[in-house]
Amino acid sequence: MSLLIKNGEIVTPDERYLADIFCENETITRIERNIGEVKADEVIDATGKYVFPGFIDPHVHIYLPFMGTFAKDTHETASRAALVGGTTTFIEMICPARNEKPMEAFELWLGKAQGKSACDFTFHMGVTRYDDEAERDFKDIVKRGLSSFKIFLAYKGAFGITDEELYATLTLAKKLGVIVTAHCENADLVFELQKKLLSEGKTGPEFHYWSRPPVIEAEGVHHLMTFAELTGAHVYIVHTSCEESLAEAIRGRERGVNVWVETLIQYLLLDRTNAEPNFEGAKNVMSPPLRDKKNQEVMWKALADGSVSTLATDHAPFDWAQKQMGKGDFTKIPNGIPSLEDRINLYFTHGVKGNKIDIQRFVDTASAQAAKLFGLFPRKGAIKVGSDADLVVYDPNYRGKISAKTHRMNLDYNSFEGFEIQGRPHVVAVRGKVAARDGKFVGEPGRGQFLKREPSHF
Ligand SMILES: [Zn+2]
Repeated sequence: MSLLIKNGEIVTPDERYLADIFCENETITRIERNIGEVKADEVIDATGKYVFPGFIDPHVHIYLPFMGTFAKDTHETASRAALVGGTTTFIEMICPARNEKPMEAFELWLGKAQGKSACDFTFHMGVTRYDDEAERDFKDIVKRGLSSFKIFLAYKGAFGITDEELYATLTLAKKLGVIVTAHCENADLVFELQKKLLSEGKTGPEFHYWSRPPVIEAEGVHHLMTFAELTGAHVYIVHTSCEESLAEAIRGRERGVNVWVETLIQYLLLDRTNAEPNFEGAKNVMSPPLRDKKNQEVMWKALADGSVSTLATDHAPFDWAQKQMGKGDFTKIPNGIPSLEDRINLYFTHGVKGNKIDIQRFVDTASAQAAKLFGLFPRKGAIKVGSDADLVVYDPNYRGKISAKTHRMNLDYNSFEGFEIQGRPHVVAVRGKVAARDGKFVGEPGRGQFLKREPSHF
């Protein structure tokens, strides 16, 4: 199996140049200005196009039991959607219930993905309980190839952990060199505000925001910074939505906390009014909630200047029927705005074409940084001899519109319905094999590999 990509403009965080790329089996073996005559099973003319390293989404949910129901995508549907949109690797959250054994959860999630996913994958291990038995499992799971944990300061009674458990988790993570990703919102405060709003008859989706205002997220970040400072653990704040939270993370970083920040495409392009004024807004309920529009500029700037490291999706697809579980009680709306398929095209359109982010920083935040932070670099997130041949030949001249009618996510709406896109992947290759072409999936379900990772956050 060999693949030759000719005359593309290669764009990575550090370099931008015209060259041909030759891939044999699953790996990039040559990068030269002009490779000339060489026998290849497949030749792609990338003249006038960019060649990016395969994009990585470091925060997705696929198999997800949540609020008494299950997210709609399977690994087959999700990986097709990912690949068509240029994402060649995703990192899924393993979210066991508190009474489940961590190792059993790991096996369950791995079993759901293996033999089904068309793109490569790995997991953050959810720590939703901490005791001696769970600790033994976490150590074994790290040996099996996961080098990141996920904790929830939110979701009281479901995934949330106590401060004692938080301290123990960070202490173990520091010892093992594992990075801890964290959902930062103060669960008790959310719970109190939810009760108060419902008792006042405020039950619609527009009140979801008021149950989790920016100060509650910022408090969560502050809390995490304190624990990270005391334990020395390396932490990563998922789905950062607003200026207040970012400020707490920056304050932590300035006093020496090892902290990285993620934001989502939703927060850059949607705002609080998308979850209002009637029940239709339930489609755009997620946590932390969509914020006031002024935060969009803050997040764009933070991505550009490096204070935010990664752009993810927190993909969690619940369909319209499921969203209606929350009719008459916004606390029962399953949370999530699915965007796994559209992240890259929206980010390129509004970021690169919209002059909010430089094209090399675009690649950095949507691919390389996630690879570096989560132990995949330079196998992933790079275009180097020896790297996996995960490549996106990107057509910046494509024009189209996003619609639920044409997307591949297993979902009957799209929060970005009607959004124009300027650019899309022409060809997407995973480990040397073309898996998507001009909006069509041409890959192989089940070809995706579980990526084992080594701890590096000591
Ligand atoms: Zn999430």
